[in-house]
Amino acid sequence: MDTHAPSSRIGGFHKFDVAQRIASVAQFARLDEADQALLQNTGNLPAELADHLIENFIGTMNIPVGIATNMKIDGQDRLIPMATEESSVVAAVCNAARQCYDSGGFTTSMSGTEMIAQIQLTHVTDPQHARLQILEKKDTIRELCNACDPILVKLGGGFRDLEVRVLETRGGTMVVTHLIVDTRDAMGANAVNTMAERIAPRIAEWTQGKSNLRILSNLADRRLARARCTWRLADIGGAEVRDAMLAAYHFAEADPYRAATHNKGIMNGISAVVMATGNDTRAVEAGAHAYAARSGRYSSLSTWEVTAQGDLAGSIEIPMAVGLVGGATKLHPSAKVALKVLGVNTAEALARTIAAVGLAQNFSAMKALATTGIQKGHMALHAQNIAMMAGAVGEEIDALARILVAQGAVRQDVAEAELQKLRAG
Ligand code: NAD
Repeated sequence: MDTHAPSSRIGGFHKFDVAQRIASVAQFARLDEADQALLQNTGNLPAELADHLIENFIGTMNIPVGIATNMKIDGQDRLIPMATEESSVVAAVCNAARQCYDSGGFTTSMSGTEMIAQIQLTHVTDPQHARLQILEKKDTIRELCNACDPILVKLGGGFRDLEVRVLETRGGTMVVTHLIVDTRDAMGANAVNTMAERIAPRIAEWTQGKSNLRILSNLADRRLARARCTWRLADIGGAEVRDAMLAAYHFAEADPYRAATHNKGIMNGISAVVMATGNDTRAVEAGAHAYAARSGRYSSLSTWEVTAQGDLAGSIEIPMAVGLVGGATKLHPSAKVALKVLGVNTAEALARTIAAVGLAQNFSAMKALATTGIQKGHMALHAQNIAMMAGAVGEEIDALARILVAQGAVRQDVAEAELQKLRAG
């Protein structure tokens, strides 16, 4: 063991100011001046604000924001800001949207804006009895929940319903209460968690059980965003393309190995808008994948069919717990601009827009995979990444990327050799 190795036990790190934290990390990791200057440059997120968003803040991580064009949603044209580090994601949405723009674009809807908070009760000797005891207290529970969040209630939200489930587990029988709360324009995690924590001791008292976890469920299946769209046969390249895409979908529907990647493509679009608007990507992703497995077998989040006219109809239904207030949404300056660009003024409109983006992304990924393959579209941008990794700067990047694509060898070793040749003239 290296006795001179720096220690990660840094007492009071959270109490340091940002400069002290950077100095401390610099000492630990031997960061040079340039590294430290990079951390100090927080871009469009002021350090004072970021320091309030998370703990032990030392810097920011910039992610490119691109605009997806051509989107028409419920008859209205929208520009979509997407925050992603992955090439081809923005282009995929533009392409899919262009191919359905003339036939009307996307139609969306939403099941509601209700979230579920769970309260776990253990050590219950008579669970069925306890279940009814809790259900009998619905009015009291409504009052207690609504008292937690008068603002939400004033805005038309608040407690909506109560569900109580008896769950057989390896650790014994549990009684699980669901508080169903309309959180309006907030994602609602803090709102419902506060309510669950307020109600839990009362439930324990009424039932003589022991309350344990009190937290929302990210399987937000009372907050489903829906989008559908029809791509005309003539606009997508004919029946052969359509049938190859359908075969791709049937593969995803039948096989979890394929479904994981199919849904990852959908989430490429969805997470990028969730991120651009300052919402919680992990919450939406957890909800999406749990919903994709709701039948007991993980499957496709989207559905693809052939219409009576022979066109290709896609649809998606997906939990979409996003907000316009709460978390970083109202605080992050870039998120605020993203919402302005989107032109949405309710969480529902945002959720519906995001579902449409997910479907668009899915269309493009399936089409590329079922026709030319994914690499053709990826290569141009990927080649630029490889060119930069090989050391290309300025105009060299495009020039080198073109050489790599032309050679059909987008590899770093080739890039390094070609860069040398380029520089040698
Ligand atoms: P929040 O508590 O910051 O804001 C919501 C509150 O804003 C409401 O309770 C209400 O009082 C008020 N409000 C003002 N205008 C409103 C409007 N028009 N509609 C609704 N409410 C309005 O945030 P939140 O949405 O309760 O929680 C979101 C945050 O919680 C996110 O940052 C998320 O990352 C985090 N979180 C997530 C999880 C999880 O997903 N498992 C768990 C814990 C925390």
